[in-house]
Amino acid sequence: MINYVRSITAFRQVQQRFSVCVCIVATICAALCALLPSMLAAPGEPFRYRGGLRNSPNERALNAKQLDAVLAGLRGKAGFLEMRFDENGFLTLGDRTKFSGGSATARALLEAAIKMPHAVDLESHPYSSLVAFARLATPIAYQHFSSGKKIDVFPLEIDFSDLSKLRGDKQALTAFDLGFVILHELGHAALGLRDAAGDPQGLGECEALINRIRRELNLPERQTYIAQTRLAPAATVSQGSTRQAELIFARAVEKQGRMQMEKFNLRWEAATVGPIVDLPAQSLARIRNSKAMTASASGQ
Ligand SMILES: [Zn+2]
Repeated sequence: MINYVRSITAFRQVQQRFSVCVCIVATICAALCALLPSMLAAPGEPFRYRGGLRNSPNERALNAKQLDAVLAGLRGKAGFLEMRFDENGFLTLGDRTKFSGGSATARALLEAAIKMPHAVDLESHPYSSLVAFARLATPIAYQHFSSGKKIDVFPLEIDFSDLSKLRGDKQALTAFDLGFVILHELGHAALGLRDAAGDPQGLGECEALINRIRRELNLPERQTYIAQTRLAPAATVSQGSTRQAELIFARAVEKQGRMQMEKFNLRWEAATVGPIVDLPAQSLARIRNSKAMTASASGQ
């Protein structure tokens, strides 16, 4: 009986030590797991360390119809005839001498985008209150265990449902479609361009580039980066009033021998689309740093 009690006691001591060990191992694992997403590639993702613009390999991936819409939007701006998303989901431009119409600035921007040292993953975020049309989210830094290879991956989050909520003049709608929204984010991701943060009348260097594309396509130009908001009657009387966001686009035209500014209005319900948010300064700094490193490595 005594031996039996001793063995039970000894067994319990071993069991307790084992439990403590398990707890320590579990704690270490939990701590490591918290770090893992920013250090390791997802298993079975062979293209994680390739830069450029691509469809996301995860559950947020764009479906075939959405990817076609992106391609059509970009093709309409750049005119590249052989541009496509390849079998691995990466945007490829094909023979760049083959283009029809389009903007030279848009072509240069897409060429920069496919040569980015980092990756931009296209993601679908339907009905998101955080994403207004599209945004470049905080990058995830991956590092390969054995090779030491590193890459920053920027999710380009797109809320397709927001684009269907746009109202206004046809010219303004054409000047702010899916293609332009993505090109704006690529202006940040590929060139490190800034928005006009905090200046209600400002445009910012990123949107200035997008306006150059609009000009080359004979479309009206966006006048401010920040949308003005105002109270307006809602669609139904029972809803009272709603806060509407508004952007103005303008184009110089000659009428009866005089140059005049034509104005076009774009509006949406602010609450249902969400706020337009600037790219975090830290993310932009990472892009600008990697651009500087690439330029010095290539002797530019
Ligand atoms: Zn921006």
